[in-house]
Order: sequence, then structure tokens, then C-alpha cells
Amino acid sequence: MCSCENPEMNEVLLKERISRIKNKIVILSGKGGVGKSTVAANIAMSLALAGFKTGLLDVDIHGPSIPTIMGLQDKKIQNDGISLLPLGYGNNLKVVSIGFLLDNSDSAIIWRGPAKIGFIKQMLGQVEWGELDYLIVDCPPGTGDEPLSAIQLLENVTGAVIVTTPQKLAITDVRKSVNFCERLNVPVIGVIENMSGFVCPECNKTVDIFKSGGGERMAQDMNVPFLGKIPLDPNIVEAGDEGKPFVYFYSKTPTAKIMENIIQPIVDFKEKKEKNNMKIAIPTAQGKLCQHFGHCEVFTFIEIDEETKTIISKEEIVPPEHIPGIMPPWVKEQGASLVLAGGMGGRAQDLFIEQGLKILAGCPSEDPEKVATDYLNGTLVTGANGCDHSHCGSH
Ligand code: ADP
Repeated sequence: MCSCENPEMNEVLLKERISRIKNKIVILSGKGGVGKSTVAANIAMSLALAGFKTGLLDVDIHGPSIPTIMGLQDKKIQNDGISLLPLGYGNNLKVVSIGFLLDNSDSAIIWRGPAKIGFIKQMLGQVEWGELDYLIVDCPPGTGDEPLSAIQLLENVTGAVIVTTPQKLAITDVRKSVNFCERLNVPVIGVIENMSGFVCPECNKTVDIFKSGGGERMAQDMNVPFLGKIPLDPNIVEAGDEGKPFVYFYSKTPTAKIMENIIQPIVDFKEKKEKNNMKIAIPTAQGKLCQHFGHCEVFTFIEIDEETKTIISKEEIVPPEHIPGIMPPWVKEQGASLVLAGGMGGRAQDLFIEQGLKILAGCPSEDPEKVATDYLNGTLVTGANGCDHSHCGSH
């Protein structure tokens, strides 16, 4: 590791360096072995081939496989005394793996948790990426402290791609990953179902081995976009073992085309996000929409994509003290444009409308996510503009 040992300096450098990266995309999976690194490497390669300045960062501290997949396992990363310099791969791709910093990629890495996180932090702060359109981050698997620290250190992650396989257990893990993203306020770009069906080397037809399609159904259930199915393809194993990035060396195969197509929703994501996104504010108490908005415990802010009708993020924020006139500008400041409320008096509604916010009152006391989903699907039934507190009859 390079000689920059000053943690404060490292922090400043980290912020400054990360600010020059336009889009930070984290690749997550509920567990190891589902093809997360393979997908991360091929997404990065496809973006670079499409002309984007791309970085590929492997912080999978338990099994950094990016060096092998990219055929860079014998390379050592350079440092100029202050910074670590990524390895260039073709014109547009730069690669850094935690594996480059370890002496022997075969040796198991046994570290205490804080040491691992410290190492990830130090590394993130030290890499000099320069200007990047995309940084693709191959995160440690699961939803523990390591992916959590990586995401927090990256700050304002643009979105997450979740990789799964079609088996039932893997699908359960995806739910955990989606919830993890929600907790960290990271929008889910979508789910990829990898190893979905098998491409027969004899006849080139795709045969289902595990039941495919589970990931797709789960994505639908969880209201997150589905980005596609990648079959089990012996060429991927061969490419991975030989250190030949699959989409580059097998570009003519149908599987490579599927992988290439996956970058489109990633590229469209930010643009679309700005165009179609809308934030809804829902006064909440005890996990349900609260009829009396002035007495709610928190406001649930739910970001939705109106076009794909999906929930992108959910955040609960404690509102300021309830003094008339304070709440509407505060809700607006959080970026919301619509309030889905229970009972609300005409005067209170006017205060929100004056702020340019739309109000839909009379919504039911349901889980905020359900209320938002019903609103998106046009199935939200609003009842009488009432109040569920017997003590406050006059709204
Ligand atoms: P993870 O990062 O989730 O641990 P890897 O990307 O390292 O998983 O993949 C694990 C193994 O599975 C590797 O040998 C890789 O080549 C192989 N693999 C990944 N995706 C596919 C696929 N679609 N078809 C065939 N083999 C695959």
C-alpha cells in the first residue's frame, strides 16, 4: 500500500477524488458465487467499449476475482508516493482490485472486520481515477458491514445492480439486498438473473436447469426493474479462467449481446431518474399512513419512477416541530412534490399548495409503500377527508 498514512488527508483526498466520478454503480449480490464479479467486469467493459470513461473497482475483500477475470493477476499496481494509479485496460477502462494490493492472490485473507473496512477506506481514498463517467464497484457479497462501508464511503451512489441466480434461496437473498439498498437510500437500477438456463455447447440452444424466471417475478413483486437473464454459458467460464473479458473476446455470441444490452438501462437510469422521478411525502405513525399529519412520528419520503411504476428509494425523516406554516416548506425542501395524506383541513392544504406541492387527502391508514404503489398503479382509493383522532374533530 502506498505511503499516505494520514487519515485526515486520506479523507479529504477521498472526497475530492470521488467528486470527479459522475456515476457510481455498485454491483451487489446476496451471496458469493452467483457471478457478481463476472457481471461487474462485463458491465464495465461494455461501458468502456461504448465510449464511456469507466473505472472498475473490486473491493470484494474475500475473493477479489477481477484480476483473474481481466487477465491482470500478475500485475502490481503503481503508486507515485501519494496515489495509487489504476491499471489501464484499452482506451477507456481503468481497473483497481484489492487483489493487486495483496502479495499472493491464492492466500486466504483473514482479517478482523475493522481492519477490512479500514483497508477498503484507505484504498478508496488513495486511487487516482481522474475524470470518470462510470465507476463500477464489485462489492463484497451479502448485506453486512463490508458492502455497507463501501457504499457509505462512496457517498451518493447513483444506483445498485443486484445479481442473483434463479434458485429459491438466492431469490430470498435478493429481497435482503433490495431492503439493504432502501435502508442506505441507494436506488436499485435493477436485478439480473445470472446462470438462468444453460447454453448447450452442442446445439447452442438454451435449456432451463434451475427453474428460470424466479428473479424476474421477484423483481416484479418488489417493484424493482428487471434487467435481464444471462444463461449459464461455458464460454463465460473459459473466458473467466483465461482472463479474457467475455464481452470483448466473445462479442459475437448471443450471451455477449445480452450482457451488452444490460448497460442500456444503466446508462438511461440517471437521465430517466431526473426526468421521471417524483418524491412523495407520506406522514407516518407506527408504520402506517397517519391520518393526522401534524402528529406523525416521521415523514416517509418515497421516490418513484412514474414511467416504470417502480419505487426507487424510501427514507424516513423526523419532521420539525409542528408549528403551522413550518411543515410545508420543510416537505418541499426534502424534494417532495406530492403529499399523500389522511385527514387534512382546507387551511393546511392551502399552505402546501402555496409551496407548489400537490395534495391528495383522504388516503387510507396503510403501509406507506402500499399507498405509494397504489397511487402509481392508479388504484389508490381515497375516502372521506377524516381524522382518526377522536380528540381533534375540527380540521
Ligand atoms: P461472484 O463474484 O458472485 O462470487 P464470479 O463472478 O466470481 O461470482 O463467478 C463465479 C464462477 O461462475 C466463475 O467461475 C465464473 O466464470 C462463473 N460464471 C459466472 N457467470 C456465469 C455464467 N453466466 N455462465 C457460466 N459461468 C458463469
